[in-house]
Amino acid sequence: MGYIMLGAPGAGKGTQAIALSKQFQMPHISTGDIFRTHIKQQTELGKKAKEYIDQGLLVPDELVVDLVKDRLAQEDCKTGFILDGFPRTIMQAQTLDVALKELGLSLHAVINVDVPDDKIITRMAGRRVCSHCGGTYHTKYNPPQEDGICDHCQRSLIQRKDDEEETVKKRLQVYHDQTQPLIEYYEDKKILLTVDGTESVDRVTENIIKALGERA
Ligand code: ADP
Ligand code: ADP
Ligand code: ZN
Repeated sequence: MGYIMLGAPGAGKGTQAIALSKQFQMPHISTGDIFRTHIKQQTELGKKAKEYIDQGLLVPDELVVDLVKDRLAQEDCKTGFILDGFPRTIMQAQTLDVALKELGLSLHAVINVDVPDDKIITRMAGRRVCSHCGGTYHTKYNPPQEDGICDHCQRSLIQRKDDEEETVKKRLQVYHDQTQPLIEYYEDKKILLTVDGTESVDRVTENIIKALGERA
């Protein structure tokens, strides 16, 4: 029972992946979070990835795919997993198909969180994240209980460097060029499920769970 969260940067993939991971008791695998951990720890991979991430570009496929394959091979993915931010290119999707087959795992649904570009810009300006636990907030739409402090671990919230407006515009362009073709890729496989990502966080979660139930 594997799930993929697809959508533009800032569409709410991470927010929904965390909610679904709680609901379904499945690991949440975010390639963005994995890279940010490497950057923090200043590993070789982290240093290489940072050059691309800071420019709003995708990290090259060869630096991403093995990382995900290794993660999916771990025991906790046997009963299910939620991929967030992977795949982002057709090549990554094709590699994932092969890897899942080898591991004896399957995809249940690809959840496409749909949000138009103009809404993305305002969302990203207000995004605040916890660099300790990955908690994600929005100054207006999803504020923490205490201003600037993570609800889960009480550490300070920060603004991601790649959430500056110019970088967000670049990331949107990269999304349309390289990631959006995946919508058709998974539509052809009959596992795509599109939800309106402009509704409230809770409503989007409800709609995803309802749509998954109808397909089961
Ligand atoms: P967002 O949540 O805004 O979509 P992520 O946290 O998923 O962003 O990713 C941050 C950055 O990490 C991306 O802009 C990209 O540079 C890099 N990245 C994450 N996942 C991938 C991937 N599957 N392929 C290539 N680059 C990736
Ligand atoms: P992604 O992982 O797709 O980049 P996030 O889950 O990090 O997106 O969400 C981007 C920003 O938008 C965050 O600040 C988050 O709190 C906020 N957000 C997420 N879902 C919604 C929603 N349905 N309505 C309003 N804001 C949202
Ligand atoms: Zn936290």
